[in-house]
Amino acid sequence: MILLGAPGSGKGTQAKLIAEKYSLLHIAAGDLLREAVNKNTPLGLQAKEFMGRGGLVPDKIVIDLIRQRLDEPDAKAGNGYILDGFPRTLAQAEKLADVEDVDIDIVLNIDVIFDLLLERLTGRRTCGSCGAVYHIKYNPPRSIGVCDKCGSELFHRRDDNEEVIKNRLDTYLNQTQPLIQFYKQRGLLKDINGSGAIQNIFKLIVTILDNKHEYTNSGVRL
Ligand code: AMP
Repeated sequence: MILLGAPGSGKGTQAKLIAEKYSLLHIAAGDLLREAVNKNTPLGLQAKEFMGRGGLVPDKIVIDLIRQRLDEPDAKAGNGYILDGFPRTLAQAEKLADVEDVDIDIVLNIDVIFDLLLERLTGRRTCGSCGAVYHIKYNPPRSIGVCDKCGSELFHRRDDNEEVIKNRLDTYLNQTQPLIQFYKQRGLLKDINGSGAIQNIFKLIVTILDNKHEYTNSGVRL
């Protein structure tokens, strides 16, 4: 499964819920890149400046990173995976389509009105330890600045400040939005209205996925 959506659309939040319910692996390109940056790997050092500005990391770097991740035993052996934040360019989508044992069943496009994205991103807080994501207004932790799940400190992502967010949204419009058409043409796209509450959006997604499961089990592909 691929999750498409602008920064702040809730891809990561929904991906975690979907992964848990359907026992899928959650592979988030942004998390893999941040891990490489934090570990100061050669790839991380290259990626850092692009991420800091809110632009995209060059395709080759991200494609290699995702390829390596898909080659790991848990990705090969499990129930399947959710790609969150990959692909983000047409070149990435084309490369992914060429990878032999990758079979894309569905692409969910989480659609959120633009004004809401800025508010969601500036208010986002992330757990540095387990990766849980909160929002100071829409999904606050029980105690300020502390993760409900693991008790670690929450932080404000460096690229969640207004200036960088504007670049990230422009980058999305110019480079990622064309993927909606790409997957629509291939009959894989499902649109989700992502403007409501987390659990309501999740219910919409579950309805779509459960219906799809029935179709595929009866031999009809969506
Ligand atoms: P995210 O956590 O998905 O918001 O990603 C954070 C940043 O990582 C983005 O603003 C990009 O700089 C970089 N990034 C994540 N995924 C990709 C991708 N598929 N292609 C290029 N850059 C990416």
